[in-house]
Amino acid sequence: MKILAMNAFTEEVVELKKWAQENKQDLTITETPLTTENIDQVKGFDALSVQQVVPLGSPAVYAKLAEFGIKQIAVRSVGYEFIDLAAAKANGLVVTNVPVYSPRSVAEYVLAQTMRLLRHLNQFEENAIQHDFTWLGKISPELSELTIGIIGAGHIGSAVAQIFHALGSQIMINDPVENPDLAGFATYTDLTTLLTASDVVTLHVPLTSQTMKLLSTESFAKMKASAYLINAARGQVVDTPALIQALKSGTIAGAALDVWTGEGPYFDYDWQGKDLNNSELETLLTLPNLILTPHIAFFTKNSVHNIAYTALNEAVRGASGQPVKHPVN
Ligand code: NAD
Repeated sequence: MKILAMNAFTEEVVELKKWAQENKQDLTITETPLTTENIDQVKGFDALSVQQVVPLGSPAVYAKLAEFGIKQIAVRSVGYEFIDLAAAKANGLVVTNVPVYSPRSVAEYVLAQTMRLLRHLNQFEENAIQHDFTWLGKISPELSELTIGIIGAGHIGSAVAQIFHALGSQIMINDPVENPDLAGFATYTDLTTLLTASDVVTLHVPLTSQTMKLLSTESFAKMKASAYLINAARGQVVDTPALIQALKSGTIAGAALDVWTGEGPYFDYDWQGKDLNNSELETLLTLPNLILTPHIAFFTKNSVHNIAYTALNEAVRGASGQPVKHPVN
């Protein structure tokens, strides 16, 4: 089978090639996303896999794919908002995604950032660079003394619960759906109780109309002044100006953000030497009690391996008329 995998990043290319070798498939990899302008390069292939943020293009793109004999689009990510599902369906194209690839990847990021925040590691490291080796005033609690508040305990939140439980923390969860695997050690509670009682609040909800700006000025006011927030879910779940205010005023002690509302043009790109031209981002970067990472919580070898293998297996199933495992349309 001739398969085209588009817009692959360096680490993905390694896994995609490994998959092709193991499965004895004829795989072509490109570094560009699929657009109206380059649609003709799909001609001659049996199966297509994409991963991108830019929309796939006009409905004519989907008609062209069907005309080229493509029966499916295997997306190499959870999100597929760049695909017009109705246009895909109208042209007989089955769209698949990779709904779960490694909950542990994000959960381990949460553990790492919790430790950085609790132990003031960023501040000690920055001080050391300035030749300031003092440490008084920055005492830390240990994990066994802490309550970890998890908002949204699906795949990732459950992995977070298991890790921190294993390390001796108390676990509090706010989620309308209870996971029986966590029932033995986690306390399910309402959002206000969680915010009030937790030492670390970590977000793992999807972005929906209910979770948009779920954490606002009122939420931060309910949290302990010694508490930390971690957001590795979606930027829009947090009201960023309210968070900046809470961090500046000491309403909460600190935060780690892997996602941010305005991340689109910035995360994944090198802006060194260029004017950021975004006052919110510039403010975030000046806050001593905030750690910002460019949406990398997922970025482990295991995740990239699972994404590549799951998507390409789906591509083969879809193209050969077998039932796919992760259809989204
Ligand atoms: P999931 O669907 O498995 O779990 C989401 C959980 O949130 C579910 O249990 C659901 O019941 C719960 N939930 C929904 N609305 C809620 C609400 N209003 N209040 C409380 N709980 C609510 O999702 P997942 O795979 O665990 O992903 C969680 C988040 O992590 C998503 O936002 C996803 O986009 C994000 N994510 C980020 C990265 C990264 O690299 N930073 C990687 C993967 C996923």
